[in-house]
Amino acid sequence: MAQDIRDIMKDTAVVADLAKTAKDAALLNGVLMRTKEAPNSSELVTYAPFTLFPTPVPKAVFQQALDVQTHYNSLVDKISQNADFLQEALASTVEVDDFTSRLFKIHKQILKEGSSQSVVLGLNRSDYMLDQKEDGSSALKQIEINTISASFGGLSAGIVCVHKHILKVAGRLEDSMAILDNNPAAGLARAIAKAKELYRSVRAVVLILVSDTERNIYDQRCVEMELMKLNIFTIQRTFEDVHARGSLDKEKRLFIDGMEVAVVYYRNGYVPQQYKSQQDWDTRLMLERSSAIKCPDIATHLTGTKKVQQVLAQPGVLERFFPNELQVVEQIRATFAGLYTLDMGLEGDKTVAMALQDPERYVLKPQREGGGNNIYGSEICKVLQEAKGSDRTMYILMDKIKPTPSHNYLLRRDSPLTISNCLSELGVFGAYVRQGTEMVMNEQVGHLLRTKSSVHADGGVAAGVAVLDNPLLY
Ligand code: ADP
Ligand code: MG
Repeated sequence: MAQDIRDIMKDTAVVADLAKTAKDAALLNGVLMRTKEAPNSSELVTYAPFTLFPTPVPKAVFQQALDVQTHYNSLVDKISQNADFLQEALASTVEVDDFTSRLFKIHKQILKEGSSQSVVLGLNRSDYMLDQKEDGSSALKQIEINTISASFGGLSAGIVCVHKHILKVAGRLEDSMAILDNNPAAGLARAIAKAKELYRSVRAVVLILVSDTERNIYDQRCVEMELMKLNIFTIQRTFEDVHARGSLDKEKRLFIDGMEVAVVYYRNGYVPQQYKSQQDWDTRLMLERSSAIKCPDIATHLTGTKKVQQVLAQPGVLERFFPNELQVVEQIRATFAGLYTLDMGLEGDKTVAMALQDPERYVLKPQREGGGNNIYGSEICKVLQEAKGSDRTMYILMDKIKPTPSHNYLLRRDSPLTISNCLSELGVFGAYVRQGTEMVMNEQVGHLLRTKSSVHADGGVAAGVAVLDNPLLY
């Protein structure tokens, strides 16, 4: 009889053998990343970190996450069009948070000038953890939604092949066949292609706005390859390149190096450090002003802030966006964790008191992306007690989700092969295209499972904490 995966994990000799095979399978299937030492070089690369085995995930909650995605797409899109809502939701944040404030300034400028493009392209990833309930079942709770540069839609396809292979080698044929096919990059590319088609210029290209150092380049390349399969040409440029050689014509069409740009796909520009000077901010403004289709446009970028997430969880807010769709409201709301305002005033004071009383129950989150920014445990008390004036409003407070841990081996270059107690986070990719008032595409295009050791409270794959994984549904 074939061994259960949990039994296989206990056999260290077998595990060591499987780990070698798995690393080679990762290299063969393009599950790759550039190295810390040579972050710009494709001469010497390594495998992107991943789990040796897939992680059990209950079928029902997995399906729930897939099913709600098109509603999240609609929600993000509706919020991005509601300037009053964004203004109100972010008013307290922009006063104290310089990064959000700069983004908001661009947003206001575009509102004033009027948008020069009626086609909107949204690619996002909604992330969840499965909160363990008292009866042992689990509840799907959203961690955040990423509306800019959502990554790992590319490498997800390769990790499917790796786990399918490893399970077969380990004698788990049935489990191997149960791993779902998954290629988000193909869906992301389809949406980009649809937007490009609506731009109505055959020769125009897709510009991928990149950073000059990118370790996660192969993930991006997967999207480029999927686009090329659809005969869509991509070019990669940095903010500096666009500043030096990009321009808008009288009709605000964007040109760079003699090429017209139909779509700007941001894989950069989501954290403050990626804007090295005022010049990069000016370039972002120029891109937003252009008639190229921005993915995301500035309003959609702002919709992904944690502050907006917190405001959405307040009573009656979702109803404003789906006035006659009670079922949609319920479906989305079911995925909300407790989220609490830290705005100045009574309600914010109540949040502070609650956090100080039992900080282990919460996560304190600033308006940042990329992992490693959140505050946990006693540090929450320190930050809230030492916050001056209205400084606390740069954060939101959120219930800490406590998923059921599982055992696995995290394979990472130069790390010892030891069994870890792990927590997983499920992401679902959404892609939509709107032309004027008409949604011409609205789809869920795949998933991502990331797993980390439970010793880390925070952090994603790029931050060096989480690793790529696959759900094994049960
Ligand atoms: P970022 O934009 O930096 O990715 P996230 O909201 O995704 O911010 O938080 C980063 C990480 O912190 C998540 O991947 C998750 O591991 C952990 N985390 C965030 N919010 C919670 C929460 N409410 N409960 C438990 N862990 C959380
Ligand atoms: Mg995240």
